[in-house]
Amino acid sequence: MLKIKNLQKVFPGGTVALNDVSFNVKKGEFVVILGPSGSGKSTLLHSINGLIEPTAGSISFNGQNVNFKNPTIARQNIGMVFQDFNLVTNLSVINNVLSGMLDKCHFMASLLYLFSKEQKLRALECLDQVGLISKAYARTDQLSGGQQQRVGIARAIARSPLVILADEPVASLDPMIAFQVLSLLKEISAAHQITVVCNLHQVDLALRFADRIVGLSDGNVALDSPIGEINLGHIHDIYGSRDQGIFFGAQQDNRVVGSNVPLVS
Ligand code: ADP
Repeated sequence: MLKIKNLQKVFPGGTVALNDVSFNVKKGEFVVILGPSGSGKSTLLHSINGLIEPTAGSISFNGQNVNFKNPTIARQNIGMVFQDFNLVTNLSVINNVLSGMLDKCHFMASLLYLFSKEQKLRALECLDQVGLISKAYARTDQLSGGQQQRVGIARAIARSPLVILADEPVASLDPMIAFQVLSLLKEISAAHQITVVCNLHQVDLALRFADRIVGLSDGNVALDSPIGEINLGHIHDIYGSRDQGIFFGAQQDNRVVGSNVPLVS
């Protein structure tokens, strides 16, 4: 349903962030884009959601091309989850979720945060799905980091997207909370058949949550493999000589095994 073909991005000044990136993502799949800092992960996600204009190549959703000059197709189909949550922290939790539907409002209504009863019910439904309905009318800055990222997920699903793009969604959370937030994202993806493309730099989390890993190294696809077929050699292909200390999983017969941390509901 999501097709990335020969994507290239060269920034002014000559940095090649994406060289020739191609891969496809199926409906409902949880794909982790894994790679070290600077490998092109954010550039890739921002190209998919129409924020960055690729130098060459194409991106399509269900056969419709995403066009940087008219990113409506991307915006209609995508929910974003950000590393730093991107919430307005002096607003209520429910207003942050409702902001995910702002482009479905009349301009003046959006300025005044005037939403329909249906939109408010949808926001509450989303908060229920992330376990935060009791916090709907709390100020967002009263919530913990993990709770704020749950609000970020509720906002992303508010408009029933086909795809969630998550850019390092747990980078600022401690390991146990990171595990819980990724568990939630995985549950929501499975329950609603929402495709997830999630940038991560932590190998252990990628191995635990991905259905498939696309590894980026210096703007190139160094790995595109279902989770069951990945071995240590593949991780070396992504991280090269930088892999000392980045891998925390167990190893059996040269096949890597994800973290044994229990799933937290
Ligand atoms: P990652 O998300 O994997 O850390 P990025 O996509 O942010 O990688 O960056 C890939 C490369 O592109 C890096 O070398 C980075 O410095 C460069 N880059 C990213 N954004 C810009 C920009 N706006 N202008 C110039 N270079 C950029």
